[in-house]
Amino acid sequence: MGEHFGFIGLGNMGTAMASRLLDAGHTLTVYDINENVLKPFVARGARAAASPAAVASAAETILVSLPTPDVVRAVALGQNGIASGNRVKTFVDLSTTGSRMAVEIAKGLADHEIAAIDSPISGGVAGAIAGTVAVMVSGPKDRCDALRPAFDAIGKYFYLGDKPGLGQTMKLCNNLLSAACFAATCEAMVTGVKAGLDARQMIEVINAASGKNDATERKFPRAVLPRTFNMGFTAGLMHKDVKLYMDEAAALGVPNYVSASVAQMWQLAVTQLGADADFTEIVKCVEQWADVEVKG
Ligand code: NAD
Repeated sequence: MGEHFGFIGLGNMGTAMASRLLDAGHTLTVYDINENVLKPFVARGARAAASPAAVASAAETILVSLPTPDVVRAVALGQNGIASGNRVKTFVDLSTTGSRMAVEIAKGLADHEIAAIDSPISGGVAGAIAGTVAVMVSGPKDRCDALRPAFDAIGKYFYLGDKPGLGQTMKLCNNLLSAACFAATCEAMVTGVKAGLDARQMIEVINAASGKNDATERKFPRAVLPRTFNMGFTAGLMHKDVKLYMDEAAALGVPNYVSASVAQMWQLAVTQLGADADFTEIVKCVEQWADVEVKG
């Protein structure tokens, strides 16, 4: 039997995940500041609400997929936020917000007797459409278990513990690796092409050798070699994730030599290409410097 959920933030990821909840037989009350993204959901029978508070007066469990930690805090705890609703019992954050914000939001919501679950996602828009994303869950175990059908509709469920923020820390560690591999792959590919190697053949060799990673296996073949740059995740969001990772590592006293360089690369990308550029376009920063193009 399907349940009724609230869903706030129907962007690149939210649209895919909310669609999967409908596909699995659940019903939704939806909200986004961009009314256009709500139309396909209303056409499929979802109810559109006028504010996060209205969503929280319509559903006991609300999932959010929002761009930045500040937006998540405002939607959860701000004026007309989720905490002002009269029905909500559980808040599930699918966004990448960092563990400090997760702890702050969990405390703020606890004052309103609302349980908070961290549940950041990884695997990209294509993974969210296919339901193959990793779902990194932390929070009260009984609530997480009770929501298992919803998590299973979204992707592959991992329960990481009841400490608030653990799911966020897991996600940031993953994204630091994703950001580092992508940036390093750009430098290696530009070097090879500049020396006269064929870009597609380089990718084939690396994928049969020890340098293979998600950038060489998926992202370069799909979005860089054909020059489509359409993975659906912005350079601004990647930069946010690396900065959140740096905050987390600094708070824990962990060295950051490699991650500091990675953060600078993404800062360069945002400065040169703009925060709304697809993250795969960062290759252009390296190409421009070396005066070659990685295509094929
Ligand atoms: P997006 O910008 O495409 O979507 C965000 C949505 O939130 C938009 O529809 C926007 O209108 C809405 N929104 C913004 N402010 C709002 C507010 N105050 N109230 C209600 N709605 C508001 O972003 P995305 O790529 O879908 O990413 C969402 C989250 O998921 C981010 O935290 C991101 O880091 C994370 N994430 C993204 C990907 C990806 O591949 N795109 C993968 C994993 C995780």
